[in-house]
Parts: sequence; C-alpha cells; structure tokens
Amino acid sequence: MPEGHTIHRLARQLGGALAGRPVRATSPQGRFAEGAGLIDGATFERADAWGKYLFCDLGVGEILHVHLGLIGKFRRREFPPVEPTGAIRLRLVGEDTTWDLSGPTRCELVSPDEQRRIVDRLGPDPLRRDADPDAARARLARTERPIGATLLDQSIIAGIGNVYRAEILFLCGIHPARPSSTLSDEQFDDVWSQTVRLLRIGERSGRITTTDPDEIGVPRSRMRREDRLYVYHREHCRRCGTDLRTDRVGGRPITHCPSCQPARRSRPRRR
Ligand SMILES: [Zn+2]
Repeated sequence: MPEGHTIHRLARQLGGALAGRPVRATSPQGRFAEGAGLIDGATFERADAWGKYLFCDLGVGEILHVHLGLIGKFRRREFPPVEPTGAIRLRLVGEDTTWDLSGPTRCELVSPDEQRRIVDRLGPDPLRRDADPDAARARLARTERPIGATLLDQSIIAGIGNVYRAEILFLCGIHPARPSSTLSDEQFDDVWSQTVRLLRIGERSGRITTTDPDEIGVPRSRMRREDRLYVYHREHCRRCGTDLRTDRVGGRPITHCPSCQPARRSRPRRR
C-alpha cells in the first residue's frame, strides 16, 4: 500500500515525464470529467509531495490534489495510449508518456488556499528537505497515546504507514504500546533518523526494504521479498528468533518482538 515513499517517487517520476510540456487530461471513467476538462491542454509545471498527498500544478490557478488511499494507483502506461481498461479516474498523456490514476480516495482541483490548509494539518514530512523534526518531537512529547498509534497520525509525522511504523519501532527497539511522551530525546532522534533513512531507500527503489544487506548477505536489489522486512507479516524475529506478537495499536495490527522491543514502565520524559 502506498506510504510516503511511493508518493515522493511518483511526484519525481511525473515531474520528470511531464513537466514543462502540455498534457491531455481525460477521465475515462467519467467521475473527474469536469476537472480533467479544466486542466486538459495545460502545461504540467510541477509535482510535489507532502507525506501521502500529491499536488500537481498545471498553471491553471487550481492545483490537482491526489490521495491514493489504500488501493489507489497512478501508473505509467503504454504510449501512445491504448483504450483504458478498468475504472480510470484520470488519464494524463504527455508527449511520450501515459499515466492512469485509478482507485484514489481524492482526485480534485483545489485552490492554493485549500492546498495550504491540507498541508497545515500535516506534520513534518521526513522526505522533504524543509522538514522540521522538532515539530514532531514537540507533538509526541504532549501525548500519552502509544507511539505505535502516533507514528500513523499524519498530523504528527507525514508519510509513515503500517509497514514502516512496525519496522521503525523494531529497529529502534521500542514497544508499540509505549506512551509517546515517554520517549527520550535520543529515542526520538533515532526514530526520526531511521524514518528518513528507510523512506529514502523506499523512494529510490520503489519498494519497502528495511533489512540490512550485510545481515541478509545480498544487496537490496537482489533480496527476496521475504527478506526485505524485519517484523511486518513475519512469525519469528529475524534477529533473535523469538515468536513475534501482533497487537492492535492505533486501530491497526502491528507485529513486534517482545524481546527486542521490551515493554517498560513509563516514566516522565526527561528534559
Ligand atoms: Zn527479536
């Protein structure tokens, strides 16, 4: 499912393929016919990502806003374009590429003010150069909610989804039920730097890989699917062999290692 790395990669690919040239926009499925009509023939200026939100500026005043949700896809297709199959909400055709958007939770034109309001509700995005980790640090320090839940909260950190949160907490040795406010500064720094590192690897390759190539014995590009993650959808801890546990935290299941991620008594955060 798309996490922040997917959207940043998509923004980079759309920009590379379409920017600076006019695009033909249609809504083969019909549900975005009016919006597609407004951007049809416009010059694609830039694509930008903030967490899981994609914004494309076509210089028409309003901005194309796309959120893929859990099942949405924005895929490069054959060029010249062939008759679309399935429910394609939006098709963009540039000079030499075709892009089909299907199954998004949002596909709409928004004003620059609305775009700002969407972004203002989001926490810092670890993949953005302008990200301010201290904004996330301050928000976590103020809440007793479990860290497994707050890492999914896009208003605290934008871009982490269910796979990355399990892997980040494993790598940091933090139990998912631990109250967010009890993380030390060092633990927060560790969470942030692992998040930046892992999302960057994902953005470059287009898939989520969190394991260390030295541990697996092959480079990331040659890893088997089952060797790419430490805990997500696994039964035993890759590092210590302990049976993994799966609990619901933040409304979704998260797998963790009771031995590598011990629960501990919460204590007041030290400053
Ligand atoms: Zn373990």
